[in-house]
Amino acid sequence: MARVFNFSAGPSVLPEVVLKEAAEEMLDYRGTGMSVMEMSHRSKAFDAIIKEAEQDLRDILEIPDNYKVLFLQGGASQQFAAIPMNLMKNGVADYIITGQWAKKAYEEAKKYGKAVAVASSADKTFSYIPDCSDLPIDEDADYVYICHNNTIYGTTFHTLPNTKGKILVADMSSDILSQPINVSDYGLIYFGVQKNVGPAGVVVAIIREDLIRDDVMPFCPTMLKYKTQADNDSLYNTPPCYGIYICGKVFKWVKEMGGLAAMKVHNEKKAAILYDFLDSSKMFRGTVVKEDRSLMNVPFVTGNEELDAKFVKEATAAGFVNLKGHRSVGGMRASIYNAMPIEGVEKLVAFMQKFEEEHS
Ligand SMILES: *Cc1c(COP(=O)(O)O)cnc(C)c1O
Repeated sequence: MARVFNFSAGPSVLPEVVLKEAAEEMLDYRGTGMSVMEMSHRSKAFDAIIKEAEQDLRDILEIPDNYKVLFLQGGASQQFAAIPMNLMKNGVADYIITGQWAKKAYEEAKKYGKAVAVASSADKTFSYIPDCSDLPIDEDADYVYICHNNTIYGTTFHTLPNTKGKILVADMSSDILSQPINVSDYGLIYFGVQKNVGPAGVVVAIIREDLIRDDVMPFCPTMLKYKTQADNDSLYNTPPCYGIYICGKVFKWVKEMGGLAAMKVHNEKKAAILYDFLDSSKMFRGTVVKEDRSLMNVPFVTGNEELDAKFVKEATAAGFVNLKGHRSVGGMRASIYNAMPIEGVEKLVAFMQKFEEEHS
């Protein structure tokens, strides 16, 4: 068995212990004589799996009691439509455009009401987070929308925007569980799980109860109405059972690692190793302004496309895979999510150092 160091932006590396445990339980889940993939979502065994997953997530994030946790499907992108259909009461929402995912959410919201781009960093290829301390928030805005960590560009909100009392909605697909957050700062947090938590297909929404309403847009599909899912404890129809089971295991792993405070230390350590090297290198440089750097996604370039391609090729051959940057940024991107061990980043940096010596 040869495991590589997988720097994929998503789907991405999962903790090895979780994969091993899942393998052990594949044919016979705890004496049921079947795989979790094969059991009824109404069974006792699955009921325990989904309840425990929710409780563990609540414990880790310290989710207040007046928030519901929903296990949904359709990926993060499905929420781009679900959010305006459920939350636009006045038909207005303000969007902060810090990258492609925020932009896609904004474009989708325009179908349902007046979506306003109140800030953007498109002018510099989304390499920074705009100043959001005094934005022209619409008086009628039902919410202010952010993408908390910009997976493609490698920026993150270190300070939340001043929403002037409006509800904050955040896409945390690529940085959930990477460090502690204060859930009550948000009306709705959602994340597609395939970056930091589990297999693609599951999306988790953490939503304040008063935002779960019956009077959503009349054409809102039953499946996309938060109330449908909340009233049925995420079991309105067959949920992505196996994916939820793996998410549950990752939540347990985070707990065992010491929770989010420990994850933060672990992630800061890894990010510092890589950023310190980028700041001292004469060949490689990061593409993002320092103060907005992400802990999770680190884009970098050599400034020479041929050299970039050569680096990616040689790195792949050496077992550092999925380092090619997003097509809109070029160069390289190392995604160093929770499950990436420190060793993976140390070895990558050693490889980069060697590459630099050999090619300068
Ligand atoms: C990956 C990603 C998405 C898209 O997720 P899907 O599950 O493919 O729809 C949305 N937002 C962010 C921040 C992402 O990283």
